[in-house]
Amino acid sequence: MTSLLNIEPLHKILELEHRKGYADSAVFGGLDKFLRNWASQAIASVTNPQLLNRFHKLHLVNPNYASLTKQQRKEWVKAVLDFLAEEELREAERGKAKLTPVANKPSSRARVPRAVVNQSIDSPITVIRGISSSLATKFSKLGVKTVRELLYFFPHRHLDYSQRKSISQLTEGAEETIIANVWQAQETRLGGRRSTEAVVGDETGNVRIVWFNNPYLAKKLATNTRIVVSGRVSLFNGRHVFESPEWELVEDRELIHTGRLVPLYPLTQGLRPRQVRKLMKGVIDQWAWQVEDFLSPDLKERCNLLELPQAISQAHYPEDEAIKARARVRLAFDELFLLQLGVLSKKRNWQEGQPGSPFSVKTSVLDAFLKSLPFELTAAQQKVLKELLADLQKPQPMSRLLQGEVGSGKTVVAMAVLLMAAANGYQGAFMAPTEILAEQHFTTICQLLSGVGHQEGDGFLYSYSGLLPRPLTVALLIGDISQVRKQELQQCIASGEIDIIIGTHALIQKGVEFNRLGLAVVDEQHRFGVTQRSALRQKGFSPHVLVMTATPIPRTLALTLYGDLDLSVIDQLPPGRQLVKTKWLKPGQRDSAYAFIRRQVAGGRQVFIICPLVEESEVIQARAAVAEYQRLSEEVFPDLRLGLLHGRMSADEKDKVMRRFRSGELDILVSTPVVEVGIDVPNATVMMVESADRFGLSQLHQFRGRVGRGTEQSYCMLLAQNPSEIGRERLDLIEKIQDGFELAEEDLRLRGPGEFFGTRQSGLPDLRMAKLSDIALLELARSEAIKLFQTDPSLEKTEHHLLSKELARVWPQAGEWS
Ligand code: ADP
Ligand code: MG
Repeated sequence: MTSLLNIEPLHKILELEHRKGYADSAVFGGLDKFLRNWASQAIASVTNPQLLNRFHKLHLVNPNYASLTKQQRKEWVKAVLDFLAEEELREAERGKAKLTPVANKPSSRARVPRAVVNQSIDSPITVIRGISSSLATKFSKLGVKTVRELLYFFPHRHLDYSQRKSISQLTEGAEETIIANVWQAQETRLGGRRSTEAVVGDETGNVRIVWFNNPYLAKKLATNTRIVVSGRVSLFNGRHVFESPEWELVEDRELIHTGRLVPLYPLTQGLRPRQVRKLMKGVIDQWAWQVEDFLSPDLKERCNLLELPQAISQAHYPEDEAIKARARVRLAFDELFLLQLGVLSKKRNWQEGQPGSPFSVKTSVLDAFLKSLPFELTAAQQKVLKELLADLQKPQPMSRLLQGEVGSGKTVVAMAVLLMAAANGYQGAFMAPTEILAEQHFTTICQLLSGVGHQEGDGFLYSYSGLLPRPLTVALLIGDISQVRKQELQQCIASGEIDIIIGTHALIQKGVEFNRLGLAVVDEQHRFGVTQRSALRQKGFSPHVLVMTATPIPRTLALTLYGDLDLSVIDQLPPGRQLVKTKWLKPGQRDSAYAFIRRQVAGGRQVFIICPLVEESEVIQARAAVAEYQRLSEEVFPDLRLGLLHGRMSADEKDKVMRRFRSGELDILVSTPVVEVGIDVPNATVMMVESADRFGLSQLHQFRGRVGRGTEQSYCMLLAQNPSEIGRERLDLIEKIQDGFELAEEDLRLRGPGEFFGTRQSGLPDLRMAKLSDIALLELARSEAIKLFQTDPSLEKTEHHLLSKELARVWPQAGEWS
């Protein structure tokens, strides 16, 4: 009956075709030719008319595969595979052994042997044949515990051994691949070690191979064995030789160590490259097809993405560079798409978890405030203010990120919305990362309000009459005030007497009770993340949240790290700002730089000097700063007034120094880079940065932003001893470019595509395949996520079931936000 029906080759080819994405590339010459051959043999040996009928129904005899669309091919391949699986089962039930056993290649459900049915890809890797518990321990050191994690354990790169050469074409110094016959192989001593030496040949010549330290190979390589050899060719005594190349037998199976793109896996003690490669190949062949693809066919089609199993398999053992790139794109898309879905649902939870406090815009109050200012808002400030006001009127709490260069005037805008909170009977909190900055904000805000009318207070609390029907009260709550006064202030906050409270993040983290918190403004240096926001919520508030940052964040990063926030940008400086003249000085110009500083000080200006970046240790930094401070005060500027600021000083000491600098009692402030310099001293006109080549562009830009805040021309002097190439490029860029966003993009570019997002500490899921430079892909993932969110926000539809499962898997914290 069905005897002699040889299913195995057809099965293999169709699986390969599936893996290759139905590109009709599984067999040389195309599938049609192969199928015609197969079918003619099969028909010759099959006598069962029903079976023959099925053949015809399935168009197995003359499929015309090449002319089908991808979707049609996919359906057809699936239909045939199902049919084959059925046939195999039937055969197995009849107890016939005619069919090749395929139990270790369960690529379609029906073929999974009963015993492994309840093993899922989330089982521990010990379910895999050949993985003992001791091997599993080694993998667990690499963060791999389950089969799924093993499938996602991607090589860090591939060696390109795909170009086969003949022996006569070998080039010294190149990585080459040959297929050759072993003429002889023997154990030998090389450098006192037992090794193997072989001579192999093809039709164009012979070449010597040595494997140091590996005498056992000699026995494996019998004369006339055909092997593939991949590795670097060197020259010895004028002749080519392979030294310890990768090799493997030419057999019926796919190559894994040679002759292709060969994966290099991260290893740990006790794991050998060949062992891991072999193991991975087996795991991928057996398991990758069981990974459920959680993206809908529509989406994949639209975005031209590979199937997930195919992408996983090609990321490990790519057939060529092109498909490897497509595999990466698919996997990177998954990461970014899930990330975007995560942050969007986070935002939704934030906005829908509790009703917010919609404000109404009190135009007369707002106008009175804006009129009282000594300047007009820039167009960019007005645009952003409008965006904020629109948010505030909505029933969902605002969650917005405001980006703007240092000095672009974010504080006024923040003040305007804080005022709206007060005008609506709510309290507003304004939080800074440090006490000095909180104090500075307090001062700024008091200045901004000084035009509105009468003011009274005591340095921590001021009331202003003239804006609201009642006095508007603004308070500063920091550690640096007496216990008694602090308690008084806290009481006033709890009773609602204080409208605007300025402090550090401790305001929400450490039990300050608000009466009716309606708006939280966060001036951010560090991330004001999920945790902080849930801290707010635990206090029973869903205030509008405005996060402000002066660090220009490239759009990719902003969308990734802050994807749950809406973005506003003040992309314009108030008029009359001078560009800070920036110059990269050669070491020989140090003395003239000091002379320049001296002239500036003589003219009444002030100077920052940032100490060399020694090490990432604050203690060592501080010590270096002390030494530099002493050198400068004793040897260079003995007649000037110098101050020192570093991270090991107490808050009190820092504060004192800053105050003295701000009030003009100091000419020069010597500071470590780690110390918070987000400080506003309009009279400072020189920023000198030592070992400037060691800082990133964004950080240099931050330093530069400390000057040029007044009306005088300001200067940024960058010193570099012996900059690396990349250091030089950075210095060139900062000299040329003043715009922070442009610099941030350059920073991103310089850090290169190999750099992955640093998301680990941020509480976001890991991104391994996505790169910072994947801007287009990120935009695509985001727009797809938004689209999906509009139609099925809680992923309830059946077609989104798998996706919802996947989302819960990669964002296990998701529940915490609601
Ligand atoms: P940022 O917080 O964005 O670094 P600030 O809000 O501290 O900037 O503003 C920097 C300085 O510019 C402040 O002294 C502020 O009073 C002033 N300023 C803000 N907006 C304007 C404007 N539109 N025109 C002129 N000066 C402005
Ligand atoms: Mg500011």
